[in-house]
Amino acid sequence: DDAIRLFLENRQGTHVQELTPEDFVRYGRDLKVAVEQNQFFIRYQPQINIATGRPHAVEALIRWRHPEHGVIAPAQFIPAAEITGEIIPITQWLLHTVCEDIAQLREQGREIIASANISGAYFTQLDLVTSALNATKSAGIPPRFLELELTETVFIENINDLKKTLIELAKAGFSIALDDFGSGFMGFSYLSDLPVHKLKIDGSFVRHMLNDTKSAAIVKSLIIAGQSIGLGVVAEGIENAQQVEVLKTLGCNMGQGFLYSEALDFDALSTWLSAPENRPEGLPKAAWGIH
Ligand code: C2E
Ligand code: MG
Ligand code: MG
Ligand code: MG
Repeated sequence: DDAIRLFLENRQGTHVQELTPEDFVRYGRDLKVAVEQNQFFIRYQPQINIATGRPHAVEALIRWRHPEHGVIAPAQFIPAAEITGEIIPITQWLLHTVCEDIAQLREQGREIIASANISGAYFTQLDLVTSALNATKSAGIPPRFLELELTETVFIENINDLKKTLIELAKAGFSIALDDFGSGFMGFSYLSDLPVHKLKIDGSFVRHMLNDTKSAAIVKSLIIAGQSIGLGVVAEGIENAQQVEVLKTLGCNMGQGFLYSEALDFDALSTWLSAPENRPEGLPKAAWGIH
């Protein structure tokens, strides 16, 4: 129990604040069955080009339909899955399902990139390049339609092997996004040396931006720094028009949040994308020169 408490404390600020040690143990036990019985599903949240209002990508967000406790958010079970090892089959299922969904959208004439969140526990145990290539190949889609989101903490913990893997991923044609940017401590000089295409600014900064000058200053410097090294910058957690106005003046080009759309199940996403004003934009050109 002490180990769990310590683990949770170390994960403060990475979405697990609401997770109690009791949940952690309980869900950890049920995860094996959840994998066997495939109790997971995906919702997709559009990422919007702020200037045009149209989507250029969607982010896959996993949920667990627990037979007794109902739908459980990823922050409540991903940490346990990382410890029990179930994160491996979960991520493999995720990659395959996301790629099948991209393929199906393409058949419907809706070409759009989808991103998958990859946990550090997966990344350090399995060859992500091979996993991602298997998934795109079996779904019959080019790798450029799959984006991989990694959090800044992953980079900090495994800084040595990581660069090599990222270069391989980028060479294979995958797009790479750095998630929750600003919540860790990565220096920009280090970042400029990695084949990352996108920075995603953590929603907590965006949420506090309008009434907290420090959050506003952080958002501003993240946008300027990201763009100065040629990266796309996505602001997460946009909930109102006032935030959009501020982000626009700061030069942020992409946004994601409830203001634009909540995360949608596949059929709802397909319908949403079919509206003329939500027609996906062409694939953005890779910002990093490795392609
Ligand atoms: P994230 O990747 O930073 O995802 C953004 C989270 O912000 C999502 O929560 C999304 O539903 C939420 N969000 C989006 N717009 C708004 C908004 O306007 N206001 C507010 N308050 N929230 C907004 P969700 O789906 O609960 O996911 C939480 C985290 O769990 C994700 O953070 C990601 O780190 C992780 N996660 C999600 N799916 C997966 C997965 O398939 N694998 C792994 N390893 N982690 C995942
Ligand atoms: Mg993400
Ligand atoms: Mg994020
Ligand atoms: Mg976040």
